[in-house]
Amino acid sequence: MPELPEVETMRRGVLPIVGTRIVSAERPPCPRRPILFQPTISTFDRRVAGKTITDIQRLGKRVIVILEDDQAIVMEPRMTGLVLLSDPPTIEHLRLRLELSSESNRQLLFWDRRGLGTVRLYRPGELATKVRARLGMDALEITSQQLQQSLKSSRRAVKVALLDQSAVAGIGNLYAAEILFVAGVDPRTRCDRLTRPQWQRIRAAAQLVLAEAIEHEGSTLSDGTYRNALNDAGGYQNYHRVYDREGECCARCGKAEIRRIVQAQRSTFFCPVCQRKSGLYEGVADLRESSLDV
Ligand SMILES: [Zn+2]
Repeated sequence: MPELPEVETMRRGVLPIVGTRIVSAERPPCPRRPILFQPTISTFDRRVAGKTITDIQRLGKRVIVILEDDQAIVMEPRMTGLVLLSDPPTIEHLRLRLELSSESNRQLLFWDRRGLGTVRLYRPGELATKVRARLGMDALEITSQQLQQSLKSSRRAVKVALLDQSAVAGIGNLYAAEILFVAGVDPRTRCDRLTRPQWQRIRAAAQLVLAEAIEHEGSTLSDGTYRNALNDAGGYQNYHRVYDREGECCARCGKAEIRRIVQAQRSTFFCPVCQRKSGLYEGVADLRESSLDV
């Protein structure tokens, strides 16, 4: 958390600053553990001041601010980071402020409560070699053949493998569980035992779930940390099918209770009936029809 839908919501939220100029960069005084920040703020300020923002992109779970000279500011929220235009939840966790030339949007902020997020400024060309080269295809763009190709020889459980950003970028713990439920695939299945139809269902489910979540501006969990660029909560937590629903009756089959297991130190939620280990279960027959019904 935040994952692809939350970071994409942040990106869309700050798009209005495209075309504005950065006046200055500052790291406000922060009594908490400092985030990883490169280069030093004085070098950062010297390199970005006066530059116009030409685009806001997303790479996996990072927001990228592209400048006119093709430098790139890469903001990675990790656990609790937020990219905001205004109204940070607290002042003491504000990590970076870019003052902007625009009358309507005067600043771009990076806020992070736990401080595990990172901000890096890359020189022209470095985005491709230092960030993009380490990531798999974006989860919204990958084809089922590409997904199968990148993971088919892995012996890892599919739920764990989907979190590997070098295989497919953007999926984290929450959405991996939701995707495998919609696909009707047992999260414990080894990648090298998945069939082609199963890879196709996983890819279709990923696109459906991630698109739904973006439409609802992401998921704000009970800790309340994730907010959109205007510091409002997301709405997709109300539509989770299995995540954090241990012990509840599965809304799809009405037969089984949602189970929680631990895989690679992370919780996985799934329905033992809808996601049978045999792999024979067909998954949601019509993904579109299922949209938001359960
Ligand atoms: Zn079920």
